Amino acid sequence: MNKKYTFLNLGKVNARYAHLLKDACNRVIDGGQYIGGEEVSLFEKELATYTGTRHAIGVSNGLDALRLIFRCYIQQGVMSPGDEVIVPSNTYIASILAVTDNGLKPVFVEPDLTTYNLDSSLLERAITQHTKAILTVHLYGLPCYDKIMADIARRYNLKIVEDNAQAYGASIGNALTGALGDAAAFSFYPTKNLGALGDAGAVTTNDTDLAEAIKAMRNYGSLRQYHNIYSGLNCRLDPIQAAMLRAKMPFVDDENNSRRAIAHVYDDLINNPLVMTPNTKEGYRHVYHQYVIRVDNRDHFRQYLADHGVETAIHYPTPPHRQPCYMAYSHLNLPIADCIANEVVSLPITPACTGIDDAKEIAGIINNYDR
Ligand SMILES: *Cc1c(COP(=O)(O)O)cnc(C)c1O
Repeated sequence: MNKKYTFLNLGKVNARYAHLLKDACNRVIDGGQYIGGEEVSLFEKELATYTGTRHAIGVSNGLDALRLIFRCYIQQGVMSPGDEVIVPSNTYIASILAVTDNGLKPVFVEPDLTTYNLDSSLLERAITQHTKAILTVHLYGLPCYDKIMADIARRYNLKIVEDNAQAYGASIGNALTGALGDAAAFSFYPTKNLGALGDAGAVTTNDTDLAEAIKAMRNYGSLRQYHNIYSGLNCRLDPIQAAMLRAKMPFVDDENNSRRAIAHVYDDLINNPLVMTPNTKEGYRHVYHQYVIRVDNRDHFRQYLADHGVETAIHYPTPPHRQPCYMAYSHLNLPIADCIANEVVSLPITPACTGIDDAKEIAGIINNYDR
């Protein structure tokens, strides 16, 4: 027994595309355009086409994509500092950082314990006269959007902002994540389902005014050189990363299908009563950025897996309201977020590192676990 089941090896992920990436890199070096230019604008066109939105704007990373959306909504008078944004209590910290960075107030709503996504039946009671938006997070690759959320947003005139960092290629019916709400943030952090070779991100939207504002805001608040309409930021997408993303984009649907095939092996074969496998939703295309199970006595379980060669990870060990930077929210009673943080374990699911047979073996190892 000395086989190793690697959780993630990014070198292996990109080795599949090495020739294409090197060609793309050479194209940028030889082209001599190192900020903006054709690689960025072609990437934006391709992303908008893929997502099915009128606009896509390349930016520096996923957090900046979210920050820019809220900053531009404030600039446009859609919301003001002090207003409230509904957020899931169990998301990655970046979702919340984007809200508080703009002086907006996060209002935490608990997720469903079996899908890990915001429970839309809890939305309405969280709304006050100050609520201006719902930041929905497609956590682990499962779309978080339904009729209840859409109806509430319409009735209370709320923006739906999607955190689509983990769900590139996910969909509900024919609608892809990134095209479900009013605006969406993408991250292309190297570990994401579409990963750059460094930091990168994007915003998608059908709102032309918002798109124009974001294009300016990411570039010092300027659309025309030396003419600044906003006190903006420097949050541009590097052309070298745009070129990397363009090279990899055509393969993400296949990669996501492989992730789904691995997930189905786990779903079908894991039958240990000590382990809770995740639920998905009928008609939703989950792209399994992570495959996340729950188990009591997690440290013991992880040690058992490690002893059998299976690497795992925790997404995430500490919920935002328990972070030192958010002491102001530490009094909140969010038992589902706490439970999830204490019990989740992410299994290997990256296609470059985990084959179907590996997944079957991992399921067998999990089924042999007892306390
Ligand atoms: C990765 C991630 C982000 C942040 O993206 P970066 O590109 O790392 O800034 C935001 N939200 C979620 C849910 C993420 O997983």
